[in-house]
Amino acid sequence: MSRGKLFVISAPSGAGKSTLLKRLLIEVPNLAFSVSHTTRAPRPGESNGREYHFVDHPTFTGMCANQAFLEWAEVHGNLYGTSRAAIEAQQAKGIDVFLDIDVQGARQLREQQLPGAIFLFITPPSWTELERRLRGRGTDAEETVQLRLNNARREMEAADLYDYLVINDRLDEAVEVLRAVIIAERCKARRNPDGLPIDWEKVTG
Ligand code: ADP
Ligand code: 5GP
Repeated sequence: MSRGKLFVISAPSGAGKSTLLKRLLIEVPNLAFSVSHTTRAPRPGESNGREYHFVDHPTFTGMCANQAFLEWAEVHGNLYGTSRAAIEAQQAKGIDVFLDIDVQGARQLREQQLPGAIFLFITPPSWTELERRLRGRGTDAEETVQLRLNNARREMEAADLYDYLVINDRLDEAVEVLRAVIIAERCKARRNPDGLPIDWEKVTG
């Protein structure tokens, strides 16, 4: 069985990445979400082990020391990391994994030249719309919104490092574009659009 791919996806906070990923996980088969570890406090509605593994500072730094993270970074004042073991287990089963990580983490993974890693960057259609979405989400204090907007300027400058750029204007269209990228990458890896291996013996008779 061929190994699953890593779809590394970044966006400035508020661009709609979580919303898009939730839709993709429902609509695209054989795709798993990499649940990161973070020292950030859960937002209302988030649960431990679903959006994130919420851990305290000593636990996180202990995991760093044990090389448990494929990459990790400080983002908006909190620590976030991708568990090496969890990713490996999914990929070994032939399942493609989505990583929702910031530009610093994506840069670390680029440098590691991991086979089968594809990098996607999502932008909002405009700066005004980014501000509207960040405030409209209603989950962050104004101070946090300002911090995230400041970081967004820097994050947008990293868009050139990515293989694909997707503008999240109309949600349905952005989901379709992301689905098309996944299908194209699966075909490139000689797999079916649903991610399962092609039965080559059957094809060649
Ligand atoms: P991120 O995960 O990138 O920080 P979210 O997925 O939390 O962003 O989205 C931020 C806000 O924008 C949410 O309130 C979400 O419902 C809204 N949103 C996401 N995508 C769109 C879209 N295409 N059009 C309008 N609103 C959107
Ligand atoms: P949020 O706090 O809004 O969920 O996420 C803030 C930022 O942290 C987002 O840009 C998100 O992509 C990033 N992030 C989430 N998990 C990880 C991770 O494991 N590693 C890195 N480098 N960034 C992450």
